[in-house]
Amino acid sequence: MRKKIVAGNWKMNKTAEEALSLVSEIDNMVKDEVNDDVTVIVTPPFPFLQSVSKLTQGNDKLHLAAQDVSEHESGAYTGEVSAAMLKSVGVEYVLVGHSERRLYHHEDAQKLYQKMKAALKHGLKPIFCCGEPLEERDADRHFEYVGQQLKDSVSYLSNEEFDQIVIAYEPIWAIGTGKTASAEQAQEMHAYIREQLSQMFDAEAAFNCTILYGGSCNPGNAQEIFSKEDVDGGLIGGASLKSRDFTDIIKSF
Ligand code: PEP
Repeated sequence: MRKKIVAGNWKMNKTAEEALSLVSEIDNMVKDEVNDDVTVIVTPPFPFLQSVSKLTQGNDKLHLAAQDVSEHESGAYTGEVSAAMLKSVGVEYVLVGHSERRLYHHEDAQKLYQKMKAALKHGLKPIFCCGEPLEERDADRHFEYVGQQLKDSVSYLSNEEFDQIVIAYEPIWAIGTGKTASAEQAQEMHAYIREQLSQMFDAEAAFNCTILYGGSCNPGNAQEIFSKEDVDGGLIGGASLKSRDFTDIIKSF
């Protein structure tokens, strides 16, 4: 059985007080309303990780992710945050290769591979993000584009390392635009990703890999998208900043 996951990516939003208030609302709603079979993840900005971790400690259904991790172990890398630091404050997952990091911070495939390695070395589970820009979809090259992203970073992991990762398919044209992929578009890409993974690793490992959909997911469209065979949950941006919407998305399974 593969894990169902809904992860909220808060991006660069909220002050300390607002972050704690949001997470305590989510904590209560998840405790009261969400089934045990869904893993819920919140991904606050770095400064709030430790306080969010303390607040959610008693809630087994709620887990913590960071939005990025350094590929370096430690040392003179001003502004960077290491995997060991994240682990030491209770982080379990880390986003790697979000399209905003690829675009604004020029993170390339090699760097993303190194970030996954650094995370895995310290027991963090990478959530590897992939997805095509609009021009690639319009040119009907979206499968090839996403396949290449997987080949360039994920395929270099060992079988044991691959077992620890989660994939998030996030078409760039759907992120923060209100324009979501249809459930059919999500399903066909997820099936393609799983097929590619089965060639890089093995069929059973690929079958067991959790593949999330991300891109303008909301309480109105989540149920249809999550109902698809190869969609194992979502990576949620904007809608994860509202506790009611986020919880309703989680309950869409
Ligand atoms: C994201 O950035 O990961 C994302 C899915 O954003 P949104 O839900 O706002 O489109």
